[in-house]
Amino acid sequence: MPGSRFLRRSEVHANLSASTLSDLNLILLGPPGAGKGTQAERLQEDFDLAYIATGDILRKAVAEESDLGRKAKEYMDKGELVPDAIIIGVILECVRSEAARDGFLLDGYPRTVEQAEALDAALGRLERRLTAVLCISAPDDEVVRRLSGRRMCVESGHVYNLHTDPPKRDMVCDQDGSELVQRDDDREETVRRRLAVYHRQTAPLVRFYEERDLLRRFDGTRSPTEVHDHIRATIATLRLEDEL
Ligand SMILES: [Zn+2]
Repeated sequence: MPGSRFLRRSEVHANLSASTLSDLNLILLGPPGAGKGTQAERLQEDFDLAYIATGDILRKAVAEESDLGRKAKEYMDKGELVPDAIIIGVILECVRSEAARDGFLLDGYPRTVEQAEALDAALGRLERRLTAVLCISAPDDEVVRRLSGRRMCVESGHVYNLHTDPPKRDMVCDQDGSELVQRDDDREETVRRRLAVYHRQTAPLVRFYEERDLLRRFDGTRSPTEVHDHIRATIATLRLEDEL
């Protein structure tokens, strides 16, 4: 897609003709099905950010048997939630890594105001601060429509969407001819339950970041490219304000 890619950091740097550019430290918020994953991929590429998805980094820390990974594993083995202090520690290891020099994109954390406060304090100790919290939203009915239209083939897990990417033949995989089924996770009642949990958890967090003027909202019902363009424009504005 020509023209849709954002300028690389070096080009942004040249364009702004500034001597320094601050790092870009972002949190991504949004319900399942609002297109968060797609935007996360594009942002990582645009700005060379370290992508910190808490589920993934915990699993990685456990696999690598780091100190924090070993501690996290003790809780996971007992089927208990890993305490915030350990999760924050794992996140900070990522934030301090070379990969996050230009910034990071945090997905799946914080989930509570308490965690947000702890993150704030921890970043402050590293002399880093959040640039913005990107909140991609979509009405529940739209999320339900999107997710409940997903079908997967039983043979190899090829994914279709009855609304946006339907198979050529009804309920049959184009690639291997196997049957298409709906996963339990994509059933309407399951999606509505996940959305209710999301809204309950996220509302206080949204207020927290709104009060700190860090929240920026994006309309997840727009096309992925439109959302991406809007996010890029917002980040460019934030950086200009930062320069002043
Ligand atoms: Zn298939």
